[in-house]
Amino acid sequence: MGADIFCTPKIYETTFFETRQFLAVYNIRPVIRGHSLLIPKRHVVYLTELTSGEINGLKEIMAAVLPRWLKAFDSDSYNLSINAGEHAGMVVNHLHFHIVPRSDKDPLQGKLIEFYHMLNNDRGTWSKEVPKEVERLRKIFKYKPTQKRLSQ
Ligand SMILES: [Zn+2]
Repeated sequence: MGADIFCTPKIYETTFFETRQFLAVYNIRPVIRGHSLLIPKRHVVYLTELTSGEINGLKEIMAAVLPRWLKAFDSDSYNLSINAGEHAGMVVNHLHFHIVPRSDKDPLQGKLIEFYHMLNNDRGTWSKEVPKEVERLRKIFKYKPTQKRLSQ
């Protein structure tokens, strides 16, 4: 277990879905509305530390989350990315996958460099819409947050 925020109960404040191995969490500073994170419950830093079972767990949570999540943001496309290591923009030292819904209406469409610059420098912004989006997603996913500490 690590000492980062993803290993504390606080992460459940913005969680909207979970499986046995992964959490789906709304990003508190989204670069685009809908920007979320998929986070393994077990503390690992790099993708290569995931077990084969956890890789399957990643596919499982993606299959469970993506269709309804894309629909929730009126989107049919998304970016999936990892910032691995400090100089790649990894802010929290616990593996996480950014998923960002994209559409022809998003403000960073056609601005790939700006998009990754924001993503890799944690340049999204919190707004009062963030907790509303968390509540909306929890309704869509029929998710009741638990406050139990991540224990793996
Ligand atoms: Zn951790």
